[in-house]
Amino acid sequence: LHNQVQELKGNIRVFCRVRPTLGDEATHAAEIRFPNTDGESTEIEFVGAADKSALGKETVKTHPFQFDKVFGPAAQNEHVFEEISQLVQSALDGYNVCIFCYGQTGSGKTHTMSSQDGMIPRAVHQIYAVAQSLKEKGWTYRMEGNFVEVYNENINDLLGRVDDLDKKKHEIRHDPKEQKTTITGIETVVLENPQQVNNILNHAQNTRSVAATAANERSSRSHSVFILKLIGTNSVTGQRSEGTLNLVDLAGSERLAHSQATGDRLKETQSINRSLACLGDVIAALGSGKEGAHIPYRNSKLTYLLQYSLGGNSKCLMFVMVSPMQAHLSESLTSLKFATKVNNT
Ligand code: ADP
Ligand code: MG
Repeated sequence: LHNQVQELKGNIRVFCRVRPTLGDEATHAAEIRFPNTDGESTEIEFVGAADKSALGKETVKTHPFQFDKVFGPAAQNEHVFEEISQLVQSALDGYNVCIFCYGQTGSGKTHTMSSQDGMIPRAVHQIYAVAQSLKEKGWTYRMEGNFVEVYNENINDLLGRVDDLDKKKHEIRHDPKEQKTTITGIETVVLENPQQVNNILNHAQNTRSVAATAANERSSRSHSVFILKLIGTNSVTGQRSEGTLNLVDLAGSERLAHSQATGDRLKETQSINRSLACLGDVIAALGSGKEGAHIPYRNSKLTYLLQYSLGGNSKCLMFVMVSPMQAHLSESLTSLKFATKVNNT
């Protein structure tokens, strides 16, 4: 039992990814160093602007950070996926897995997670392939997909009807005995083949863009959660397994001053700030390892939804995404500090 406790305590990992500069951005890039670039990169250092002291001496402040892994601008999604494929596959063994992309708008979260080349389609293809190979050992898997958005503390079904967005109410239901979560009234897609994930991504994209007047705005102001449930039965041994993979593209973490926001924008800002802070609090409380510690899952819809995939028999990974731009330095440092706190719990 002791070993098990130890193992569960270290169930949160943090990877950092810096996107490349795009177009003519390169001329305004921040200075970023990767101290150990031997393929096993775990350190990243931002170099701040030169500061002249009162005595006229120039000092340059560096901001070093360390994570379980650091991906530089040259890393492709294919390479990034290789580093999470083991974790993704553990959902076939009955684990609940959560992978988050955290960072300011424009830092590469959607490119990494929900694009046609991102972790979502790659994970589905990989899981399908492994499930096929487990057939010879008697395993048959059913793959169920859901795709929801948490916007202003309401759940919307990205696979539902466009007209229902922001209107139809969906409730989170927990079954504590079975440690199972369901959301009322949402569409479930049973994936018969991995190509179907493209339809799911397209449908979700379409739902959002039709419903919103400014599609990009909305997608950066909400959390999207792709949920893949894997139900396995073994015809030889009679074993059953049920795991869930949650792939989360979080709302932009940029801090918008409350004073500048009014009306709907203020409401959005408050709910994003609160839910991201709550996610950090939950991970911190879980990581504290204190037995019987109160975990504030209920403080936000996102953490309540993911409750059984964050604590207990679960594995969690956070990508902290950063922009390479000098103009974004301060936001990047804020993101990296948040991620460091999450990592050190
Ligand atoms: P976010 O979802 O965090 O707001 P996006 O994923 O939309 O950010 O990325 C912002 C822009 O940068 C998009 O045009 C995206 O295609 C591009 N981009 C992000 N990461 C990469 C990358 N690793 N390689 C190439 N282009 C990228
Ligand atoms: Mg995005």
